[in-house]
Amino acid sequence: MLERGYYGQFGGAFLPEALVATFEELEAAFRQAKADPAFWQEYVDLMSSYSCRPTPVTYAENLTRHFGGARIYIKREDLNHTGAHKANNVMGQGLLVKRMGKRRVIAETGAGQHGVATATMAAKFGFECTIYMGQVDVARQRPNVFWMERLGATVVSVREGSRTLKDAINEAFRDWVSTMDTTHYVLGTACGPHPFPTMVTYFQSIVGREARQQIVKAAGKLPDRVYACVGGGSNAMGIFSGFLDDTEVGLVGVEAGGRGLQSGQHAARLCSEDASIGVAQGYKTYFLQDRDGQMNETHSVAAGLDYVGVSPILADLAERRRVRFEAATDREVIDALALTVRKEGIIPALESSHAFAQAFKEAPHLPKDAVILINQSGRGDKDIFTIADAFEDPSWKEFIIAKAEAYRAGS
Ligand SMILES: *Cc1c(COP(=O)(O)O)cnc(C)c1O
Repeated sequence: MLERGYYGQFGGAFLPEALVATFEELEAAFRQAKADPAFWQEYVDLMSSYSCRPTPVTYAENLTRHFGGARIYIKREDLNHTGAHKANNVMGQGLLVKRMGKRRVIAETGAGQHGVATATMAAKFGFECTIYMGQVDVARQRPNVFWMERLGATVVSVREGSRTLKDAINEAFRDWVSTMDTTHYVLGTACGPHPFPTMVTYFQSIVGREARQQIVKAAGKLPDRVYACVGGGSNAMGIFSGFLDDTEVGLVGVEAGGRGLQSGQHAARLCSEDASIGVAQGYKTYFLQDRDGQMNETHSVAAGLDYVGVSPILADLAERRRVRFEAATDREVIDALALTVRKEGIIPALESSHAFAQAFKEAPHLPKDAVILINQSGRGDKDIFTIADAFEDPSWKEFIIAKAEAYRAGS
């Protein structure tokens, strides 16, 4: 089915010679772990004692009544330890690192969420940990940097290039080339060279396996549609993998529409005309790039969706029309977040709110016996600095200014 890590025409592993052996070692370790039923059981046990699995499916009764159409259910990945589905991936890779006998992990992070998740896993397993982050992101994401450092990670502020995520990725690969005997690179999403897309999807498939059983029990049938936001694509692949073979279930991936698909300020790779097929960062997929292959600037109110590439598995599912791709704008996302908090007392992350926004557009047009399932990839309360900014809350602004003034007066 899968020729050397290809999904249709997408994926592959475009590697510098120095890393080929390391990737072969990783692929072999993953293949052996996957073939060992005790490994998956060890993973499930770890996630149930450390990260609240199985996470529940919640019936959103008030939102259902509000829209007057399909019954709305929510898969609660926000209840994971560290507040998002990212825990599934990093803890799974942590178990694999232990099996390979390595002692050190590295990762790159943009918004800092994957850095916090990786540093948490390293603390739990007793690994050394280095996180690469662009200097611009270090300045923007101080709360996450604070936690990475408390968790024992060394945060390296990358001063090359645009000093953001792609420069951090380059630095992390540079580190790995000289440390691969002792070090594992914890990639954060279902992207990158083979075997990462398959491996990350494998760990995230725990979401879909649980969700399929839970929704059938709760709603008495399979869902008509499943919605997930798409950054790199790991939470979407996680929930979709539970329903891929059920062709009657519509799968909807929601990308960051930013300031609108016509504005050029978005991160829509699979549902806009602005992306094209290319090879970068070790794999082939759709990238937001110019004619010379230079990566474009992306924009989203949600830092976790602001990525130039996308999972090669999703690119293939888009081409085969198994997954439909849509975009939600910043404005629609903030409105969907506000409504969900107010109606259900649930605070989705800005990333997850993209899935909610698209589901809310479609729910009123579906019959009352239809069932939709939204993957809530993470919780928003941990992101108060970005969410309060997005709401332009005046009292929050005053609070920040007063705090800054108090610091200045004290120093
Ligand atoms: C990082 C993140 C995402 C985007 O990553 P995917 O790999 O596309 O899932 C989505 N939601 C939350 C809450 C995140 O932290």
